[in-house]
Amino acid sequence: MNRIPDYIAGEWRTANAGEAAAVIDPATGETFAETPMGGAAEVAAAVDAAAAAFPEWRRTPPQDRIQYLFRLKRLMEEHYDDIARCITRENGKTFAEARAELQRAVENVEVACGIPTLMQGYNLEDVARGIDEIMIRQPLGVVAAITPFNFPAMVPMWFLPYAIACGNTFVLKPSERVPMAMRMICELIGQTGIPKGVVNMVNGGKAAVDALLDHPAVRAISFVGSTPVARYIYSRGSANGKRVQCQGGAKNHAVIMPDADLETTTRIVTDSAFGCAGQRCLAVSVAVTVGDARTQFRDALAGAAASLKVGPGLQEGVQMGPVISRQSQERIEGLIAKGAREGAKVIAGGAAGGGGYFVSPTVLDGVDPKSALSETEIFGPVLSLVHAESVDEAIDILSGSAYGNAASIFTASGATARKFRYEAPAGNIGVNIGIAAPMAYFPFSGWKDSFLGVLHGQGRDGVEFYTDKKVVIERWPREWSRKF
Ligand code: NAD
Repeated sequence: MNRIPDYIAGEWRTANAGEAAAVIDPATGETFAETPMGGAAEVAAAVDAAAAAFPEWRRTPPQDRIQYLFRLKRLMEEHYDDIARCITRENGKTFAEARAELQRAVENVEVACGIPTLMQGYNLEDVARGIDEIMIRQPLGVVAAITPFNFPAMVPMWFLPYAIACGNTFVLKPSERVPMAMRMICELIGQTGIPKGVVNMVNGGKAAVDALLDHPAVRAISFVGSTPVARYIYSRGSANGKRVQCQGGAKNHAVIMPDADLETTTRIVTDSAFGCAGQRCLAVSVAVTVGDARTQFRDALAGAAASLKVGPGLQEGVQMGPVISRQSQERIEGLIAKGAREGAKVIAGGAAGGGGYFVSPTVLDGVDPKSALSETEIFGPVLSLVHAESVDEAIDILSGSAYGNAASIFTASGATARKFRYEAPAGNIGVNIGIAAPMAYFPFSGWKDSFLGVLHGQGRDGVEFYTDKKVVIERWPREWSRKF
């Protein structure tokens, strides 16, 4: 069995951990590798390597640090298809979706290459007569990221490039379910010639996470995953004095106004709800149809869902792959059945097909916005339809959600769009956009139970998160220089 090694101090080391998690191809159910469940010993080795690399790395000029990132961008592009195939195999998403994910990963490397500008501080002469003040940004030291299964390469790259470009050294704990893509990317990172220990990767689950949260040398923790785990990591990490940012779960609404373009809106909402088998934290999972939009969009969305070709992600023409695991498949099917019991009507999908963990693209009509199903993050290819009489009522419905990751509106009216942008309580807003994913040079926002912390991942927020501000006030009287 292919046992995934850790990447520590520029070397591949197989952990001694007795326990291992299966890495399964969700399209077939076949186990093709195993992730050793490392713990305190593996984490200590990785943090030691990162701490040893830090003093020299922080002294390396930013201009020189980014040369490794330029090389990484080139190497990732040269190996796009190999990494994408690996993502499809371990995660299940289609090959096109895996390539799109990698594109987003590379964009973060590109943005971090701007660090000589992004990391600059500011200054003011003569804050008092003859006294100048400057603000300098300095790296923190060893920082760590803990990432989820749904974007095996992109989510780690929301953090890694900014962390190291700022002069920190980095430890990644990827999802034990999808360790292969970052294994390939760490291999490429090694090929850039970057000093050993600047980037490290430890495999495992809760024990490895706990060791990172408790290790005194780890200064900052970035987390992306479900909200209960986000809460746990935020509280334990901050209790230990670390800087912590945690992106959690989601339940995203798309409000469809009667003046929305039928064809384009149907296509975009369908892609948002069912792309990556609904396992995107920005997936639309509730469509709120307003007024007359109800009947036209109900039939169009059900038709579009039913027409999607579901199958193994590497197969030509397949538009939607399986979900990650048997447990996910059963949980999603259970929630669909629960929705039906609570009075919703299954107007597309509902039944699974194929040998792997496939769930048909499902549309539930007439879901009660106050039902348990409306509150639950399904994280699968299920779109609930809810109806509202006005945009105000639609905004009330999404305001009732505990989550605030993303919300979209589809309309031809600028005034309605502006009202929505102004009032909707979510961190990422789409106007005639189905997946309101911020580009790498904007923060990946998220509000309410979808985010714990202050500074988000990506862009300028990433630079702020990975640096400490130092303020220097200087007085250099001329008469002192004359003495020498
Ligand atoms: P998860 O919370 O189960 O796992 C995420 C990471 O935490 C993994 O590395 C895992 O090993 C670790 N972990 C799991 N349980 C833990 C525990 N009890 N203690 C310590 N560490 C633990 O999430 P997942 O199933 O891998 O990913 C899906 C979730 O991630 C969904 O809720 C989705 O909405 C969310 N997500 C959010 C965003 C965002 O930007 N807000 C992006 C992607 C995914």
